[in-house]
Amino acid sequence: MPAISKHKPYRVGRSRTGLGLFATKPIKKGTKIVRYFGPLLDSRKKKDDAIENKYLFELNGRWTIDGSVRENIARYINHACKPNAESDVKPRKRKVFIRAIKNIEPGEEINYDYGTDYFKAYLKPIGCKCEACERKRRKKRAEARAERQRLKVKAERKAQKKAEKLAKAQEKKAQEKLKEKQKLKLNGVKANDEHLNGKSRSKIARNKPAATEPQTLAASPDPNQMAA
Ligand SMILES: [Zn+2]
Repeated sequence: MPAISKHKPYRVGRSRTGLGLFATKPIKKGTKIVRYFGPLLDSRKKKDDAIENKYLFELNGRWTIDGSVRENIARYINHACKPNAESDVKPRKRKVFIRAIKNIEPGEEINYDYGTDYFKAYLKPIGCKCEACERKRRKKRAEARAERQRLKVKAERKAQKKAEKLAKAQEKKAQEKLKEKQKLKLNGVKANDEHLNGKSRSKIARNKPAATEPQTLAASPDPNQMAA
């Protein structure tokens, strides 16, 4: 790790993507934190134009800073989509400063937005690992998990309802069968009874004394008496 003066408000440390620059002292919003520096490349020179690395900082159509040199501490600053610093470009002076755009607390990682071109070329293909993007991914994963859980519960409820319906139908069928059986049994008993009754009745009839006068007649009131 590069040696940094104790008076500087930052240090190089481990970050989620490798190394990063971290505040060691409170840094006030608007403060210049560190200069992004390195050899100036002139796009009109073939040799300069052929240089390609991840630390090129384009100042304008002609001038680019090659920040890949070890002494350029600012090259340790990682990209963030919601950063706490920005790159303050002075094209005429051919200088770039990293400036705080928020109050930064000790221990906080310092970040700035590398810009759309860098993002498209280097970060989009592998997925941006900045805190805002990680948080977004975590949220999406949590939402997907919740959705899967919701669908699972729904499917389970549906299966349970189906099973209950099936059980009810089977029970109904079984009861109908039982009823049918009982009915058949009852009919059989009735038929038997009737058979027996017929027998006994004929027996009774045989044993019965001579028929008496029908009670209905005896019980019916005298029409004459009623008229009176
Ligand atoms: Zn991001």
